[in-house]
Amino acid sequence: AYNFSPGPAMLPEPVLRQAQATMLEFGDTGASILEISHRGADFLAVARQAEADLRTLLSIPDDYAVIFTSGGATTVQALLPLNFAAPGQAADYVVSGHWGKTALKQAAPCADARTAASSEDGGFRDVPPREQWRLSPDAAYVHVTANETIHGVEWRDIPEVGNAPLIADFSSSIASEPLDVTKFGAIYAGAQKNLGPVGITVLIVRRDLLEREGQPRAPIFDYRAQANAESMLNTPPSWNWYVLGLTVKWMLDEGGVAEFARRNARKAALLYAAIDGSGGYYRNEVATAARSRMNVPFFLHDPALDAAFLSEAKQAGLVALKGHRVLGGMRASLYNAMPEAGVQALVDFMREFQKTHG
Ligand code: PLP
Repeated sequence: AYNFSPGPAMLPEPVLRQAQATMLEFGDTGASILEISHRGADFLAVARQAEADLRTLLSIPDDYAVIFTSGGATTVQALLPLNFAAPGQAADYVVSGHWGKTALKQAAPCADARTAASSEDGGFRDVPPREQWRLSPDAAYVHVTANETIHGVEWRDIPEVGNAPLIADFSSSIASEPLDVTKFGAIYAGAQKNLGPVGITVLIVRRDLLEREGQPRAPIFDYRAQANAESMLNTPPSWNWYVLGLTVKWMLDEGGVAEFARRNARKAALLYAAIDGSGGYYRNEVATAARSRMNVPFFLHDPALDAAFLSEAKQAGLVALKGHRVLGGMRASLYNAMPEAGVQALVDFMREFQKTHG
């Protein structure tokens, strides 16, 4: 089946097969990858290779640390002010969907988290244009969500913000196209869309930000301490780290982010063209320039057909198309592991469904 889940999402088949084999026996360790110490040479090699490959894949410069943690993107959102803002300091949030709001909510207990701009009044069908942003002169950082997974709204070009470092949630679009890391103070992503399995989160942070005092926090929540300890202050999610490494390696072998940018552009164009060309049978409500390449929410002209659409799609081998409960309707997530043939199969099914039920 083609799995259009928004995350945990489809993984490449070669990654799953390799993970399956090493689940039983890893190298000459005489043990499963699940059973070896994170401090032993075998796992340290896995962890370091994953980081090195991620640095290659995303062209991460040396003056950025890469930190692997558990807790998901939401935990990063909660720890950003503790690490990078002084007590009571302003932090600006540009909100273009559900996850931007979440980021602000997570930061609010530990910072003067401000909505610098929001497209909520328009139902999150666009990004708030730069001229509407009201940035605080003393902000610790400016936060944006590169791709809103639920609303299907993506920044195609994240604007300059001036002096404060830009921190971006790239959970659902990391590694989908080339990225200029140096534009950002920090980038973070839960792995479960483009980078591998759920249970591990990546934070890419400019090292000078790690020198900020931040606020009183337990050592385990201290990103400087995590960076110094190679993300091993405690037992890391080693299995997830390993499968992330396999996924990153697969992306490199497939041609890297430039190749995925081409594939992802073709996949998104194919699906949006089918929606727009359906004469209103299907519709996507996001402003054309802000339409996500990764998550495509769409609605049938008659919601009474939703159940039939989902069950017939499943029979056709197209699964996890149900939209998020916040929006309803359908959503197709087209991450890197989704082949172009999967999107073609979806588009063919949509045309057929329209013919049968239209
Ligand atoms: N940010 C974005 C853009 C997301 O899509 C998600 C989850 O889907 C999150 C944050 C929350 O991530 P997690 O569940 O890893 O905490």
